[in-house]
Amino acid sequence: MNAPVHPDIYRAADTRYTGTEEHPAMLYRRSGVSGLKLPAVTLGLWHNFGADRPLENQRAILRRAFDRGVTHFDLANNYGPMPGAAEENFGRIMASDFRPYRDELLISSKAGWYMQDGPYGFGGSRKYLVASLDASLKRMGLDYVDIFYHHRPDPETPLEETVGALDHIVRSGRALYVGISSYSPELTRQAQAIAKDLGTPLLIHQPSYSMFNRWIEEDLLDTCAAGGMGVIAFSALAQGLLTDRYLNGIPEGSRLGSHKMNTGFLTDETLLAIRALNDIAAGRGQSLAQMAIAWVLRRPEVTSALIGASSVEQLDESLDAVRNLSFTDAELAEIDCYATDRGINQWGRATASTEQAESAG
Ligand code: NAP
Repeated sequence: MNAPVHPDIYRAADTRYTGTEEHPAMLYRRSGVSGLKLPAVTLGLWHNFGADRPLENQRAILRRAFDRGVTHFDLANNYGPMPGAAEENFGRIMASDFRPYRDELLISSKAGWYMQDGPYGFGGSRKYLVASLDASLKRMGLDYVDIFYHHRPDPETPLEETVGALDHIVRSGRALYVGISSYSPELTRQAQAIAKDLGTPLLIHQPSYSMFNRWIEEDLLDTCAAGGMGVIAFSALAQGLLTDRYLNGIPEGSRLGSHKMNTGFLTDETLLAIRALNDIAAGRGQSLAQMAIAWVLRRPEVTSALIGASSVEQLDESLDAVRNLSFTDAELAEIDCYATDRGINQWGRATASTEQAESAG
């Protein structure tokens, strides 16, 4: 990997699309039936990029990601802390480092979860989505985002209004593509039909999916494939549970240790499953994080695994997952013994559209 010409002046690695002897090349997968390819692993900026984290660490992670072929960065209006801070920090790094590479980057943002007080800071109204995206573009210093998502269903807003706003966002040049997140299969089918009528097909669905959270296997994956949509699976590492992070206790500063994740998620039973899966991964010559990423990508409907990282080391380890994405039937059967729903889908109530304003990813 070539070094930057000057420590403060970033030049992307010449090997970003070829890989190196040390690290394999990134793979790119087509989103549904569209022409758009996503990296098999995408980096999200939900945690780790707010005002509570050093900008230099954020810069190092983002540089390393792009140097290793991660062309897609996923953001949202509310990522922080405070809401908006991740987009602001990304905007700083975009201006200082990535400006010459804008056309090589796929940048997404979202609106739907709580952003601000008042009637226009949550939900799926045209008023909220359009104004929020304008504010996101300002924070990031961009003319457009590549993908804009409605972040969660809003039972109070007619779906025609929300999808109509997404259509307007594309036609007005604010986004190249649009998607939806945490929508149920039924709501997804309705959204697909409305978007098709309007002539702005939905590119992609962003649901939670991991070995400990398998709700999309029942119907959503089929629904997306039937509608020609890709799927980008978020929290593919179950917020760090599906790594070695908690094998020997709860480290200070970890997501669980800093109460950024529900501490009830790590039960004794779940820890036993993590240990068993860790052993299976070791038998494959992989870390658990690598196996967890490969596992979501085993489904052809899944375009990309959307992960987070709080350090360059974590990112490096996770990206090496692409070295081995195949599983034997015996391995999958053994994994199935432990890869069961563990009550960690904190977005499930939004999917069921039974809750209102609440802060989440
Ligand atoms: P994740 O990949 O499941 O969890 C990331 C966390 O796992 C890291 O912060 C780190 O925890 C730990 N980790 C990562 N790699 C590791 C490794 N190799 N070894 C040990 N630990 C490792 O993903 P996530 O951060 O929950 O979500 C990823 C992205 O999905 C977000 O940034 C966002 O873009 C998107 N997302 C979308 C929604 C939505 O509603 N659409 C919701 C949630 C997330 P520590 O911080 O403890 O080091």
